[in-house]
Amino acid sequence: MDKESLSFDEALKYESRQYLLVSFQWLSFISLVLLSAVGLNIALDPNLGLGRDAVFTLMLLPGTLCLAHLGLRFAKVSWSRSLGWNLFFLAALVISWLVSMSLLRGMGLLVLPGIESLSDVLSLAMAVALFPSMKLTAAAVAPFLLYSAFYRYEVYPESIYFSVMRALFMFLIIMSAQRVIFKWFQKAVRRNVEKQRLVKHFRRMALLDGLTGLSNRRHFDEILNQEIRAASRTGHPLSLILLDIDFFKRLNDSLGHQAGDDCLRQLGQLLSDVAARPRDLAVRYGGEEFAVLLPETTVTGAAEVADRIARLLAKAAMPHPDSQVAAHITVSQGLVQWQRGMDAAALLEASDAALYRAKEDGRNRYVQSASPGE
Ligand code: GH3
Ligand code: MG
Ligand code: MG
Repeated sequence: MDKESLSFDEALKYESRQYLLVSFQWLSFISLVLLSAVGLNIALDPNLGLGRDAVFTLMLLPGTLCLAHLGLRFAKVSWSRSLGWNLFFLAALVISWLVSMSLLRGMGLLVLPGIESLSDVLSLAMAVALFPSMKLTAAAVAPFLLYSAFYRYEVYPESIYFSVMRALFMFLIIMSAQRVIFKWFQKAVRRNVEKQRLVKHFRRMALLDGLTGLSNRRHFDEILNQEIRAASRTGHPLSLILLDIDFFKRLNDSLGHQAGDDCLRQLGQLLSDVAARPRDLAVRYGGEEFAVLLPETTVTGAAEVADRIARLLAKAAMPHPDSQVAAHITVSQGLVQWQRGMDAAALLEASDAALYRAKEDGRNRYVQSASPGE
């Protein structure tokens, strides 16, 4: 449970960060659009004589900042994606907008409704961009609301109550919307984490044998091809053991199917213990046939493994009342070392032929496949 909630927290942190990084870019873009709109408004207004100066004043700080921010991002400068830099950018953006608004106010170009509209639009943009973080949303929205509230108070000192209420309600509405949207965001991340976990679980299930817990044939085919490619590339040895329980049908017939299943499970455990190196793979190949794939191993090494399997089986001494070769469960094994030019089918065929010979030669033994040319 701890581990699960940890990975959910990690996913939430990651997704929030990804969203915020895109948001900072979006804030730059939206700021530029907003600056252009206000700038055009001022420049095209025939009643204002200060057109060019005013537009320049307006654009200078936030415009330069946003262009620099977008430029760094598009140039793929690595530190421009760091959260620290982007938080610095956010603070600078808020301050530069406030400075610009003050300068325009000083020039008499923005009156109260203009300041209020601009502050409201900027507050909303900040809320949309920063909702994954309550603190950031509050920190970015509050200065604009306070600024327009102070301005309103300056213009209408008698209606201080309205100024305060307006800012307060805007703030409360934005922050409660932040909670709602953030909960949806959290839910989406949680669903995604669960989906990924399920996919992983089912993928594992699809590659494992239900009875023994060993890899199944599908997984084996995949890994065998992979290891053959690795051996072709590196020239390192690769060996395969195919093994089959002796007189297994008789075991089922004498002790019952349940005992047969128990025997398969125990042999599965034994083989997975024997396949001890990280790349070794023990597989239930089908029915009462198993395979052990041994990368970086010559056929001599494989013979040692085959010996160990026989010894451990003798030690485990699972009773077999109707075997013709021993009083306990035994296996016959076919060993083969991969040779250049052999594909998976050829390797399996060679090990199967060796296994057949082990059966023919009297069972409870292993036979090494003769290498081509021997
Ligand atoms: P040999 O020594 O020649 O290999 O003889 P054998 O009896 O082991 O070989 P055969 O192929 O005649 O019989 C294999 C038996 O394995 C037949 C089948 O009922 C049994 N078997 C296959 N899968 C399972 C399983 O999942 N559980 C159980 N209990 N038995 C199984
Ligand atoms: Mg068989
Ligand atoms: Mg058998």
